[in-house]
Amino acid sequence: MKSILIIFACLIGNVALAQDENLPKPELTEVWEPVPKIVTPAEKPGDPPSDAVVLFNGKNLDAWVSPKDPSGPAKWTLADGVITVKKGTGPIRTRQSFMDYQFHLEYRIPSHITGSGQARGNSGIFFAATGDGDSGYELQVLDGYNNKTYVNGQVGSIYKQHIPLANASRKPGEWQTYDVIWTAPRFNDDGSLKSPARITAFHNGVLVQNNVEIKGATTYRGNPTYKKHGPGPILLQDHGDPSEPISYRNIWLREIK
Ligand code: MG
Repeated sequence: MKSILIIFACLIGNVALAQDENLPKPELTEVWEPVPKIVTPAEKPGDPPSDAVVLFNGKNLDAWVSPKDPSGPAKWTLADGVITVKKGTGPIRTRQSFMDYQFHLEYRIPSHITGSGQARGNSGIFFAATGDGDSGYELQVLDGYNNKTYVNGQVGSIYKQHIPLANASRKPGEWQTYDVIWTAPRFNDDGSLKSPARITAFHNGVLVQNNVEIKGATTYRGNPTYKKHGPGPILLQDHGDPSEPISYRNIWLREIK
């Protein structure tokens, strides 16, 4: 009986082997090149990895200018390793321009924040800020912990275009993170839109924008439209509302080539 079972098992095995030989070799679907470059991750999550362009590391504002006077230093306050909006001086933007990238930033709404709605810790990150003032495409920064406002203008929104998928706000006084994947719009030679900008954003590690299509440059009134541009700087907004100014730290990006 035992020998019959062994013969039977061998027969089954041979059939399986014969079947395997008729299948494509697994090696045919292995890809060995190009080998991805080595990037050393940061020791602490949220800190810049080895190939990042560091835009602010707590030491100086060298990577930033005030668009009102781009020849001089950025006019916001740097103290204790943190940048704080200096109300009335206008926005700041990066000296360098970028196309597509992974972006990280941390912000803090003051613990004693006052005001309500859009007048409570309002700032914003504008991608591809190629024009004057608050130009570009805004990912809203605003106190969202206990602050009712229109949902396409709350923190995590693409201002007046996309409601965030969640409200992951921390309490005022706590540091909060944004991690973003930005794909710039592309234009045809005649100025028409070839492909819209796209954005994915995580707020405090929670997905709030999932590869959404941007409808055009951010506008307070009316509908957004596109106007041809190339690579652009990143701009941080001085909103002008009377609430206490907010702070930023640990800002970096990784260009996507
Ligand atoms: Mg804003």
